Amino acid sequence: MGKLTEAEVQTAAGQQQAQLKEQGKPVAAEGKMSAVFPSYARYDLALVKGKGSWVWDDQGNKYLDFTCGLAVTSLGHAPEKVGAKLKEQIDTLWHVSNLFQIPGQQKVAQLLTGNSCADQAFFCNSGAEANEAAIKLARRYHQKVKGDDRYEVITFEQSFHGRTLATLTATGQQKVKEGFLPLPAGFKTVPLHDLPALEAAIGEHTAAIMLEMVLAEGGVLEVQAEFLDAVVALCKQHGLLLIVDEVQTGMGRTGKLFAHQHYGIEPDIFTLAKGVASGFPAGVMLGKGYLREAFSPGSHASTFGGTPLATAVMAATIETMLEDELPQRAAEMGLYLTGLLKEKLGDTPFVVDIRGKGLLIGIECKQPVSEIVLAGQKRGLLFVTAGPNVLRLLPNLYVSKEEIDQAVDILSDLIHTYATQANGEAGA
Ligand SMILES: *Cc1c(COP(=O)(O)O)cnc(C)c1O
Repeated sequence: MGKLTEAEVQTAAGQQQAQLKEQGKPVAAEGKMSAVFPSYARYDLALVKGKGSWVWDDQGNKYLDFTCGLAVTSLGHAPEKVGAKLKEQIDTLWHVSNLFQIPGQQKVAQLLTGNSCADQAFFCNSGAEANEAAIKLARRYHQKVKGDDRYEVITFEQSFHGRTLATLTATGQQKVKEGFLPLPAGFKTVPLHDLPALEAAIGEHTAAIMLEMVLAEGGVLEVQAEFLDAVVALCKQHGLLLIVDEVQTGMGRTGKLFAHQHYGIEPDIFTLAKGVASGFPAGVMLGKGYLREAFSPGSHASTFGGTPLATAVMAATIETMLEDELPQRAAEMGLYLTGLLKEKLGDTPFVVDIRGKGLLIGIECKQPVSEIVLAGQKRGLLFVTAGPNVLRLLPNLYVSKEEIDQAVDILSDLIHTYATQANGEAGA
């Protein structure tokens, strides 16, 4: 079949819409993906193929991907070593219940605990689910092991912890909570870096403090080391658990395998998801050995958590990261990328700040930047935002200097053009 003309596409879409209307079914305004709940603001791009740093759309256009499924495909698209293990496991065993021994879980748990301060792992399927497990473990530890009436979790403004009812309540952004009342009890949110507010929020029911090392969705904001030290001290003083959400910052992204390792701290619990399985759905909650008995048999579960298929992909992903020293590579390439951005954009008044850790990078601008993202797509470069005024760059950890050069050329072009336009409008 040949390509449809624009008019034919319009007619086909129109006919489909009329048909849906006739059947009494909902009709989406855009006519695309009308059978899917419109809970995402989607770009008008359908990506159908990927390899390494590059993706292709359904029209055959090629893009340099500095998005990586939002920090998910950290080994690049369709990584061969991981793909080979996935194919091997597909022909062996996909799924068994957690009623049985799953050797893959022990292997992944040992890879993760052997390279961190944690001793135990719980497997699930997403970041929200990993954080949910962390919150449950913290409550259960206090209530069942220590015999405390502690259940409250303190989190920070601008944080992001997920979209389940508990994790959206933990999230420090009003927009994710609208229309979902009543929210579960047991959460408090205080401003980041406000020590008096944090101290005032701690009470007899406080069980844990949860935070990201770099607030990624919140604008690529790094937690100040002195503040983090104070948080650790408060946890010690009041017997609280420290939960670090490493869903976006974990798995090498920031230049260490786990971001908290930059600061020499040891969280009681930390959570992983995005980069842990190269795009296969997987989440992990990791904790210290003294928390072990809090999750006694029957206390928590997940049908799809840590299946033979998922653990094969996780193991291959983690082994590849360690073998190829990707955290170190992320640190080096991150310095190269931010250095280049500062060189090309540092003097532009439109750019407020260029910051980041490893290959989690934010460019804060004076005005909303969503149009720059769209203009980037037209130039063949994919990146996203982190809040209204911050551009976020998340290349894969194998990204080359040539690819970085290419991306920075396009970006600085886009930003200079946009800044000139914005200036013109402001002056007019
Ligand atoms: C993406 C993200 C989550 C939620 O992960 P899902 O897999 O979408 O549930 C939680 N915390 C942080 C820091 C994230 O970036």
